[in-house]
Amino acid sequence: MQIHTLASGSTGNCALITAGSGAQRTTICLDAGIALRTARGFAEELGLNLAELDAVLLSHRHGDHSVNIVALAARAQAPLYMHRDNIDTSQKISKGELSRRNIDRRDIADGKTFYVNDIAVTPIQIPHDADPTFGFIFEYQDKRAGFFTDLGNPDSLIANNTLGDLDELVLESNYDAEMLANGRYPRALKDRVSSDFGHLSNLQAAEAIQQGASARLKKLTLAHLSQKSNAPLIAHECMQQALNDSGLQHVELLLAPARGPIKAAQL
Ligand SMILES: [Zn+2]
Ligand SMILES: [Zn+2]
Repeated sequence: MQIHTLASGSTGNCALITAGSGAQRTTICLDAGIALRTARGFAEELGLNLAELDAVLLSHRHGDHSVNIVALAARAQAPLYMHRDNIDTSQKISKGELSRRNIDRRDIADGKTFYVNDIAVTPIQIPHDADPTFGFIFEYQDKRAGFFTDLGNPDSLIANNTLGDLDELVLESNYDAEMLANGRYPRALKDRVSSDFGHLSNLQAAEAIQQGASARLKKLTLAHLSQKSNAPLIAHECMQQALNDSGLQHVELLLAPARGPIKAAQL
């Protein structure tokens, strides 16, 4: 099983989860907040086809995740897994759009596992200022991966040991607290981002790993980095320090770019 981010951050999010190969391959798309033509190009770079999806998932209603989700599910003729409370929160994910495009919508609920072929998917509700918002655990054969962005604090993930038994994790590392405080955002936006229902800071992400991760973790991708209130080098250093302090130096640490799949040299 592999996770590929195609876009990550407030200008749009999209990720692919794949397992198996050839005709047996299963592909899931999580969120579609960028132009479909752009997403299609990024998928092609990875040898993947956005028209051949087995399922489409929506984490939450914010436009950077949801704006093209219905169009994507329609084009791929794939079922769209999204929580019912997110319907009608914008025109793009309205009841009318779902029915006009003939979408096979399937409901999701916190902790309730469903299967997309051989991939088990478990939505985990997380604290964010769009209720409900979900992260996901993906399981395939003996591999477990987690995907958590858009959350104001990691407390429930730590308390429920959600990060404790993962081989791979994509985790938000949105902002550096000092850069956010000194930046040009209006006060209200700064407060929103740093609230318990906003986004994870570099330090909160580091704390989540220190308190929640286990030696099973092999690959960690930092995601949803702010382009104004963060810098890849700062986010990377902060997390590398946390990994070193936790005896997790073996973990491969990557950064998801705002646009495009992860390339080797990113810093
Ligand atoms: Zn977002
Ligand atoms: Zn959001």
